Amino acid sequence: MKITSVDIIKTFKTPSQAAETAVGGVPWHPVIVRINTDEGISGYGEIGVAYGNAQNAGFGMGIDFAKCIIGLDPMKSEDIWNRLHRLTFWGMGNGGVIMAGISGIDIALWDIKGKVLNAPVYQLLGGKTNDKLRAYASQLQFDWGKVSKSLAKPEEYAEAMKKAMADGFDAVKVDPVGFDPQGRWMGWSTRGILQREQLQLAVDRVAAMREVGPDVDIIIELHALTDCTTSIQLGRELEKLNCFYYEEPTQPLNSNLFREISQKVNIPVATGERVYTRWGYRPFYEDHSISIIQPDLCNTGGLSEGKKICDMAHVYDIGVQVHCCGSPISSAAALQLEAVIPNFVIHELHASALIDDNIELCKYNYVAKDGYFEVPDRPGIGQELTEEALKNSEIVTVK
Ligand code: MG
Repeated sequence: MKITSVDIIKTFKTPSQAAETAVGGVPWHPVIVRINTDEGISGYGEIGVAYGNAQNAGFGMGIDFAKCIIGLDPMKSEDIWNRLHRLTFWGMGNGGVIMAGISGIDIALWDIKGKVLNAPVYQLLGGKTNDKLRAYASQLQFDWGKVSKSLAKPEEYAEAMKKAMADGFDAVKVDPVGFDPQGRWMGWSTRGILQREQLQLAVDRVAAMREVGPDVDIIIELHALTDCTTSIQLGRELEKLNCFYYEEPTQPLNSNLFREISQKVNIPVATGERVYTRWGYRPFYEDHSISIIQPDLCNTGGLSEGKKICDMAHVYDIGVQVHCCGSPISSAAALQLEAVIPNFVIHELHASALIDDNIELCKYNYVAKDGYFEVPDRPGIGQELTEEALKNSEIVTVK
């Protein structure tokens, strides 16, 4: 079996209103990889950096790496991963764009493998350890529903919490500091020392949510926008509200800071969406600085690398919540891995997954029931772009 061509697909050539604004106002053009073979079987993967402001970089990376895999056997995903990592000069530097390119290709290869063997990917990774996957409603500062908004007042946060609970979730995630009192994203500094007003507003927002959801697990998300000092200040206040875990309390390039935060704040600390490969996670494991990892399969090296990162975490009693905020292709890949790993904690259902444009990109709409996902049983990762989505995409085919 041989790889004959690779399509690199930037979605929403003519973006609709919702796709253009999406959640948080970032233009929404997920970049998808489709690997085609001489046996007529194709597989899908996603290049994650496109969620943020690196859409063209992700698209270009996909094109460059596609050229390296034409003619290779798609069943040899481990060999292809290592070729892209070792033989592309920059692979071993662990860069985000490079690893996102490898991730998209790796996920597409696992999709092909599953289709060839007529099995869902979870069967190939070890079979189901988790029959149902608990999920949380993620990023409630953008509200919860089909339209994304910026929330400012504590009572608006309480309303978003009620909506998520009405949808059956008993776990949510919120960034309580991102929006200033006027609802401007990062309209104030969150570095140095937080002012009393800032600290109080963040606490009031979470307290309002806690009041309407006394039994709900609340994950605090800081998007790495606070520093070590400010996240300790805030964490010491928020720990009184009994939070589930504390995500990205500072930027992830210095694991020692996470250790300091975890020693001073009585909430389990999490990070990982900006950490790539086993080598990137190693310091967090060795210095016991975090309790939960959040690898993004479309950025950290795909399903091959994601499985290894999660298994390494298990050695250190670290739980896993896969970072999930892309198209339904990325969510489908996450569900397959989460079904298998014994240290699975919870599945992220991002507010962007509720937007119709995102749902309509793909053939299947997997939804949570009473706060839990079933694991899809279709061969491969169990997700594909629709013909309509392909028609409305910019596509470069490498042969
Ligand atoms: Mg995050």
